[in-house]
Amino acid sequence: MVGDTLKIEAIPAFEDNYIWLLSRGGDSGCMVVDPGDEGPVQDILASRGLRLSAILVTHHHFDHTGGIQGLKSAWPEAVVYGPKQESIKTVERPVQQGDRIVVPDSGLTFEVLDVPGHTAGHVAYYTAGALFCGDTLFAGGCGRVFSGTFAQLSQSLQKLAALPGDTQVYCAHEYTQDNLGFAQWVEPDNPALLHRIRQVNAQRSHDLSTVPSTLAEELATNPFMRTDQTEVIAAAERWSGRTLSNGEEVFQAIRTWKDKEYD
Ligand code: ZN
Ligand code: FE
Repeated sequence: MVGDTLKIEAIPAFEDNYIWLLSRGGDSGCMVVDPGDEGPVQDILASRGLRLSAILVTHHHFDHTGGIQGLKSAWPEAVVYGPKQESIKTVERPVQQGDRIVVPDSGLTFEVLDVPGHTAGHVAYYTAGALFCGDTLFAGGCGRVFSGTFAQLSQSLQKLAALPGDTQVYCAHEYTQDNLGFAQWVEPDNPALLHRIRQVNAQRSHDLSTVPSTLAEELATNPFMRTDQTEVIAAAERWSGRTLSNGEEVFQAIRTWKDKEYD
């Protein structure tokens, strides 16, 4: 192992994006996940005297990739990993499900998971109990379906649900408070959800980040992870006005409900 314990910090970007910075002490290089903007990353690297050795990208959207080129010119040695199924010009090492990334100069290893749905080639990175899932799973919600399909996103969330409950979920946006408002439409009587809403409201009133959450919290409160629960199925059927026969149909109904009526 190089350096000390892994440290994971949020670099806020744009309105509500988080670029994740992973570093260890000593002289090991650091890495960033989804650098949509170069400036805030360069600022923190300079102020901390850090050297960038890798960039991990989850999907092609500009708010996750816009800073890569600038960072790469400043740090030519940084290796850029990204999804094999999407065309991102700046990606040097295309990765997909089953790949194991050993980041040079950091001693860190990541497992790659294919999690399509928000986009058709979206990947997530998993290391040492931390999941970097871009716009697939959000705290209290999930991404919209853009270039993927509802069935894909539903299956991707089920795949993530199988990770250990204490997995820390590092998503790419601060959307939690908003997401939980919709979650309450779906499950107004879920006590774990009401508890989480109080907690998140308190955090946001002090401008604190609500990310990471844990997978166990998501399983207990995030309706998109709870499509097998009686209350969620009932709410989805009430909204769509028909009987839904499986988790994917329930997922599609509540994702569509949120798109059309909540935000
Ligand atoms: Zn996106
Ligand atoms: Fe995004």
